[in-house]
Amino acid sequence: MSAARRSTAAPGRSTATSGRSTATKRQSTATGGSSTRGRSPLGVDLRRRLRVVPGKRVDLAKIDPSESFGHAKDEADELLEAGRLRLESLQERLWASKGGSLLVVLQGIDTAGKDGTIRHVMTAFNPQGCSVTGFGVPTPDELAHDYLWRTHRSTPAKGTIAIHNRSHYEDVLVVRVHDLVPRKVWRQRYDQINAFERHLADNGTTIVKIFLWISRDEQAQRLQARIDTPEKRWKFKRADLAERKRWDDYVAAYEEALTRCSTDVAPWYVIPSNRKWFRNVAVAEILADTMDGMKLTYPPAEEGIESIIVE
Ligand code: AMP
Ligand code: MG
Repeated sequence: MSAARRSTAAPGRSTATSGRSTATKRQSTATGGSSTRGRSPLGVDLRRRLRVVPGKRVDLAKIDPSESFGHAKDEADELLEAGRLRLESLQERLWASKGGSLLVVLQGIDTAGKDGTIRHVMTAFNPQGCSVTGFGVPTPDELAHDYLWRTHRSTPAKGTIAIHNRSHYEDVLVVRVHDLVPRKVWRQRYDQINAFERHLADNGTTIVKIFLWISRDEQAQRLQARIDTPEKRWKFKRADLAERKRWDDYVAAYEEALTRCSTDVAPWYVIPSNRKWFRNVAVAEILADTMDGMKLTYPPAEEGIESIIVE
């Protein structure tokens, strides 16, 4: 953990500094590098570019998973650091003000990089005030309840951030692909999910939903790397190959979820994720811009304390 990451400097100042040194290297960075609030250090408004416009049909074949908006890997470390500094400071204001809460939904096909994103981006957050919940195959207790029960139990309290590594969307993804419930049942869920998310939003939770989009070839390479690297082998399951055979079914299920459930209060973002460095920078930026939109301020201090001298 670098000293900079733990800096308590104002977000504007610290990010601007790292942004500016990047900007000297590339002209495109100069546009956004000198500001933090709502301006991209990449010089592209990624939040606008990657957001699924509510009501617009998503065709994943038209989204290049290797897209990086003209930027290069050698800038990535600096940009990511700038993004993390913004997040760190924004989280501090969220915690101090208790001005709402943030729910981050992370989805992606196997090997898309959900765990890596948490490791590289969410480490910006102070563990006090941030939870990560992984959603796997439901337990008997979870199955005995409605499918949103386990999600609702892990939503963020005021002042905190909850990261969902997989989510209630599995109930229209894996459940749909494998016919785990009748079609009639999962078809109703898109509207139910929208109503649920609306309810959370109306009660003070800001929602941001991230879909990490990789290509089929990239998945092959990443699965192979898991097999070939002894330290990664534990991650590989033979069942991953069976899932890979259902690639097209998953893509269709994702397209419908992205299309039907991207709303003004709970937008989906499709992140081109073949390049891990771009994925990290983009997620950091979208989260920080989302948190900027929460208009978080520090609560007022007790009156007249400025002149107090502690003896
Ligand atoms: P991993 O992310 O590798 O830990 O795997 C978690 C597994 O749980 C994935 O294969 C998901 O498809 C599966 N899973 C998550 N949610 C559900 C669900 N609601 N029903 C069935 N399987 C699920
Ligand atoms: Mg897995």
